[in-house]
Amino acid sequence: MLAPADAIINDRREWEDREWFPPGPQLAICLSGEKNRLDDLTDDELLQVAAAARRQTSWAQARELAAIAELTRRHTAEDSTDPDHRVLSARESVTEEVAAALTVTSNTAATLVHLAERLTGPLAQTGEALGAGRLDMAKARVICDVTDQLPEEVVGRVERAALEKASGQTTGQLRRRIRRIAQRLAPEAIDERRREATRLRRLEVWDTPSGTADLSLCDLATEDAHAIFNKITAAAHGIKADGDTRPLAMIRADLAAQLLHGAELPDAIRALLTETRDETGPNPPDANGCPASGDDVASPGQAVLNARTEAVPGGSVPGSDGGHDLRTGPGGDTGIAALADEVERRLRHVQGRVPPRELPHAVRQAAQRIHRQFSAARDAACRGDDEVHGRPGYRPTAVMRREVEARHPTCVFPTCNQPSHRCDLDHTVPWRPGITCRCNLAPLCRRHHRLKQRTDWRLFQIWAGLLIWVTPSGAWYLVRPERQ
Ligand SMILES: [Zn+2]
Ligand SMILES: [Zn+2]
Repeated sequence: MLAPADAIINDRREWEDREWFPPGPQLAICLSGEKNRLDDLTDDELLQVAAAARRQTSWAQARELAAIAELTRRHTAEDSTDPDHRVLSARESVTEEVAAALTVTSNTAATLVHLAERLTGPLAQTGEALGAGRLDMAKARVICDVTDQLPEEVVGRVERAALEKASGQTTGQLRRRIRRIAQRLAPEAIDERRREATRLRRLEVWDTPSGTADLSLCDLATEDAHAIFNKITAAAHGIKADGDTRPLAMIRADLAAQLLHGAELPDAIRALLTETRDETGPNPPDANGCPASGDDVASPGQAVLNARTEAVPGGSVPGSDGGHDLRTGPGGDTGIAALADEVERRLRHVQGRVPPRELPHAVRQAAQRIHRQFSAARDAACRGDDEVHGRPGYRPTAVMRREVEARHPTCVFPTCNQPSHRCDLDHTVPWRPGITCRCNLAPLCRRHHRLKQRTDWRLFQIWAGLLIWVTPSGAWYLVRPERQ
């Protein structure tokens, strides 16, 4: 057999016999050889290339997870300290490192860390199969999901059964099959997991790319969810039968929205909804459960919002303390951009100069130095024509809050999407000696507030709105004001 590199150079039919070429560096060479020669391949060979590229992806993803698992193992091995709820745990700290490094949300990173640990631990065979390209990441996730929280011996049996057929099944087929097996082997564990999940039932809303929003009731009991859906479907059919020309799906959505709005429905429709109740079986009527859980979700958030707007005494005269002047300040837009570039250049310089082991310390020191170096200019910029810098108390004024929230519409952790109006306004340098001023305040969500409490993470505010995070591994992230 030809070496792959030779094959690319010499052989016109370079892809021949690569059908089951294992993933790894050699396959990478085959795949990257002369992209334009895809023209030469037969349809069958093109499909083989696509499948091979997918195997290669699985291989790379196995490496990604192995690296994450090793990092996690390294940083959680000595984490035996008492849990302090004000501080994020070592494990979660690793999650945040991964989030920032891969530019994913904390939730995605947490899933990756979990998957990494499982595929290098109890599901090592699945990890191997992923690395060998015998299954892809989506299927590895299914196996991980279904075996989560099952007794150890059952995990092994379900995994073996899964791997037997996984390469020939879609994720849906795989999930259904191994769920059945798990249910048979550990019915109590499966029931407990279901009960646990329904304890996290909630109402969620998120914006879509088309400028609409999705509203979703999550983790309801299966029977409840289907009963609600069936009931609305039956009513929608009734409306359609009465001559409504909207598509059924749209009627369903409109009807559900009307119900949630608490709109008075015409008697006929109300009758349809009540009529179908009998078909939904022994479950309690959803009308009791739904709005109640909705209230549970809504009220704490609302309370927070209310508290926020009331929280700032003395801030009732907007703009009265010169907030509009402070917004631009002597730093100016281009000033901050230039400063950010300069800070980045200096940190890169440090990064390139020190041995890897000294990196975290060196980057922290450098950021600290930069912070100190700009302190006089920063103070002067904030002070402007006023005599005072910041305000005497701990609480920011309403004007300050508005300014900081406009500057950073979300939590200042690099990958966090939490809107700043739901965040704490954190004093970057803790209050006293830190001051209550635009140059020392930034929105942090609860989680990243706790992350900042860790001694191995550092956050510096170099200029009002320009922040540097330094992670335990010595990585650093510059967060710029969004509206400069
Ligand atoms: Zn200031
Ligand atoms: Zn955050």
